[in-house]
Amino acid sequence: MGLNPYIKGEHMELINRYFKSYDELKEFIQSKEPVLFVSSQTSTVIPYPLLEERLASWCEKQGIEKLVLGDLTSMPSNMELLDNGNLYIKGSVNWEEAIAFCQKHGRTIKTYPTEQLACIPAGVATSATGERCFGFGTLREQVISLKFMDGEGTIHTLQKKNPLEPFPELQAYQEAYLPYQALKNGPFPRLKVETDLVIGAEGQLGPILEVELETTPYEEVRYFFIHLPCWEEDDTPHLELFQKVQAFRGNVLSCEILDKHSMQLLPEQDRLKQDRDIIFLEIRGEEEAFDDVFENLLFGFESIDDEWIFEIPEERFHQIRAGVPRAIFENNQRLGVEKKGSDVQVRQENFKDLLAFYRKGKDVGLPYFLFGHFGDAHLHYNFTPKTSQVELCNIYFKGLYDRVLKWKGSPFAEHGIGLIKQRYIRNFHSETQYKVFKALKTKYDPNNIFFPMGFMSGPFEGDFSD
Ligand SMILES: Cc1cc2nc3c(=O)[nH]c(=O)nc-3n(C[C@H](O)[C@H](O)[C@H](O)COP(=O)(O)OP(=O)(O)OC[C@H]3O[C@@H](n4cnc5c(N)ncnc54)[C@H](O)[C@@H]3O)c2cc1C
Repeated sequence: MGLNPYIKGEHMELINRYFKSYDELKEFIQSKEPVLFVSSQTSTVIPYPLLEERLASWCEKQGIEKLVLGDLTSMPSNMELLDNGNLYIKGSVNWEEAIAFCQKHGRTIKTYPTEQLACIPAGVATSATGERCFGFGTLREQVISLKFMDGEGTIHTLQKKNPLEPFPELQAYQEAYLPYQALKNGPFPRLKVETDLVIGAEGQLGPILEVELETTPYEEVRYFFIHLPCWEEDDTPHLELFQKVQAFRGNVLSCEILDKHSMQLLPEQDRLKQDRDIIFLEIRGEEEAFDDVFENLLFGFESIDDEWIFEIPEERFHQIRAGVPRAIFENNQRLGVEKKGSDVQVRQENFKDLLAFYRKGKDVGLPYFLFGHFGDAHLHYNFTPKTSQVELCNIYFKGLYDRVLKWKGSPFAEHGIGLIKQRYIRNFHSETQYKVFKALKTKYDPNNIFFPMGFMSGPFEGDFSD
């Protein structure tokens, strides 16, 4: 997924630079060059292969001739399991490495993003969530402390246990956040405790260097799938499952969906059932927990036949679950188009409405795929358009975000805003948010060098997306 090491555009140069130590990073930051720090480059909201094209005219208007793509993956990395059971990571450790490390020590981390090669500090920067958010809650709550470097090259340590130091514009911002508290991420980052400062800030206040994460004892888990009629034709079983599974959070760790269209993206041997949606449940294997789910949830449905329920090996679940977003990601890269998909989470009472809106996506007349974090009412609805069909998708998604605004849902619940989603976020932000973003940028990034085209420096005229 890397870029060419050196790309010269018509109006500006995009320079790939690798950092190998804190001293080198500090010296670079003090040189005040505009930079977009990156880790594994799996973001779905930054079109890395199209970056130079998307940024050229904006950079020209801003008088930016060079933008450094600051690759942090060569920084020295390390993992340590602390006496309190927390995992301390330094540098660009990815989720897969952290899970394997914890497992060797009889522990596991509580966040499980589908893209395991993404890095943990980047996950903190984007306020990533993932499958196990259903059972364990958000990454934001699992970050106990962290270190980041600001625009002067100073390293700050932030603690979750400390409230964020108040400043004049903060109170109105915090009040505006109240309706979104129960969602994974609101349309603007939560700013309540110290660690919130950089969680979801997408690197705009400086690179995150070290993170202390909560873990939990490792235990066996079991995976089941339930095949259902397609949600477009009959969502009665989906809605029954959605309602009932809420009472089993904690014993059910994840509740994911791949709809019948998504299954078509997989190699034939991975398709679990022809023409059916698949809902996966990850269930704690501990006897009492498992029995509770087995007896009171799995075999107690009115609209789901017992014969639609099967157990599946863990590895196969992960392979199938990750296969769908990867296929869409690769398809878009091949066609040279940006991702045209949603990352919307709604309140439980709006879940039926969300499905109804996605049902209307059929009228756009393009292939579509629904998958994601079903139990959390957080679904990814994706089109795979050709370049000439992109505008049709944009119109549809504009309608979706208008609804999400009314429902007070989360337009971008885990992938962030990046560049691609900036055109849609504008209606969710007002002076209340812009004043706070400005205050934070002035304090921590006074020269506005970190991701200067990010949402904290906006709103901008025009778009960074196709
Ligand atoms: C197939 C697929 C599945 C996915 N599934 C999930 C999922 O389940 N849950 C989820 O949340 N996301 C998911 N994503 C999105 C993506 O993986 C996440 O946004 C992830 O956190 C990005 O990590 P990265 O290392 O690739 O970061 P990058 O793409 O390199 O960077 C992402 C953002 O973080 C900033 N950044 C990177 N490193 C740092 C740092 N050290 N300090 C400060 N800022 C930094 C960058 O400037 C950029 O704004 C998925 C993506 C794909 C392609």
